[in-house]
Amino acid sequence: MCQHQPPCPTADSTDREAAHLVAHHPEQGWSLLCNGVLLFEDTGELLPDGQIIAPHRPLGTEHVMTAA
Ligand SMILES: [Zn+2]
Repeated sequence: MCQHQPPCPTADSTDREAAHLVAHHPEQGWSLLCNGVLLFEDTGELLPDGQIIAPHRPLGTEHVMTAA
């Protein structure tokens, strides 16, 4: 799937998120990487083999709501 040189990390690699973006849909909250990984806004992932990776990074401060 990936045609970059050097090749991007594969979907089963721990640094799979370092692959290039091939589609970015922030309004829908997901991005597609060239290794076939679907990356969600909350850092969850869906791998090409159907495996689901739970969100694993804390959200940035821009998502934090301060209650008045
Ligand atoms: Zn690539």
